[in-house]
Amino acid sequence: GAAAARAALESLVVDVPDFPEPGIVFKDITPLLADHTAFTAVITALAAVGRDESGAPVVDKVVGMEARGFILAAPVALALGTGFVPVRKAGKLPRGTHAVSYALEYGEATLELHRDAIAPGDRVLMVDDVLATGGTARATRELIESCGGTAHGLAVLMELGVLAGRDAIGDLPVATLMTV
Ligand code: AMP
Repeated sequence: GAAAARAALESLVVDVPDFPEPGIVFKDITPLLADHTAFTAVITALAAVGRDESGAPVVDKVVGMEARGFILAAPVALALGTGFVPVRKAGKLPRGTHAVSYALEYGEATLELHRDAIAPGDRVLMVDDVLATGGTARATRELIESCGGTAHGLAVLMELGVLAGRDAIGDLPVATLMTV
């Protein structure tokens, strides 16, 4: 359950200071992904966010944000018996997309979603590794809503509490396995 996932995160996520630039402490999840027991524990815990109290899935799609979100969202989708949908950086998706641009600390980023990937009325679970400023999550929610879908919530391994990303994404429910 949640305790196993938390233990996995505490022992197998490595803090890398000053990567990719000075002042950033990068959360490296690759040791966790390489450990089958730990990987299973976090996927089970993330998938629980897309279930009701009886354990029944309540979402129609699981969206993962490039790139580490893909690694987590795809097995969550399979665990829930739903499809997986990628949200990608600009210029990567080959067919018609919705696009949302948002401000980064330095500059701007654009995310895209295939227009036909989410059907009107779909309930969508968003999955990523880290919630930092919330810009990625907010843009992803806008993309889902551009297709006529509803964001059920955001499930992340870790939330960087000091950055208050939760406040940047309005009323979207956020489930985090660990706040750091
Ligand atoms: P944000 O849009 O600021 O909430 O940033 C979230 C995105 O950036 C996620 O897709 C994360 O994978 C990545 N990210 C932000 N900060 C970190 C960090 N300290 N360590 C690892 N990934 C991060």
